Amino acid sequence: MSSSSNRSNRPSPPTHCEHDQPVIRQTSWTIDFPLRSFLGCVEYYNGSKCKTFYWLDPELPNDYYKQEVFNLIQKEKRMKEDKYGKIRDLEREIEFQKSTMEKEMFLLQLELKESKSSVLLMFAEIVMDAFTVVIKEVDSKTKMTECRPSQS
Ligand SMILES: [Zn+2]
Repeated sequence: MSSSSNRSNRPSPPTHCEHDQPVIRQTSWTIDFPLRSFLGCVEYYNGSKCKTFYWLDPELPNDYYKQEVFNLIQKEKRMKEDKYGKIRDLEREIEFQKSTMEKEMFLLQLELKESKSSVLLMFAEIVMDAFTVVIKEVDSKTKMTECRPSQS
């Protein structure tokens, strides 16, 4: 057990682990040490048997804080999952609207071919242009929802 009084006696942080891999700053997600940073082998979360381990953050003062921080982590995880669920629904909806519009455009083109009237032709071209603009807009909206979680 370490206390604040002997912190100055702490060994200096390692740069490499026992099998010579560089150590990196990582975060613990366990209920006992939620969000606590440590230095560990790059293979730490890939089942490394490496014993090199060094806490960077001090321990939370008591179980109340640990529980609160752990709850926050869980809450954020749920919110993220919820957000991506909504984006997926939106993407499906946009995809459906896009294919519906493309079908309508295809039917309109068929009608256009059958039609001999130049007036109707001109009108149809205007409608077609409008459709193209709408589809481009839907396309750009689809791209906007393709965001990925950013690394912080
Ligand atoms: Zn290692």
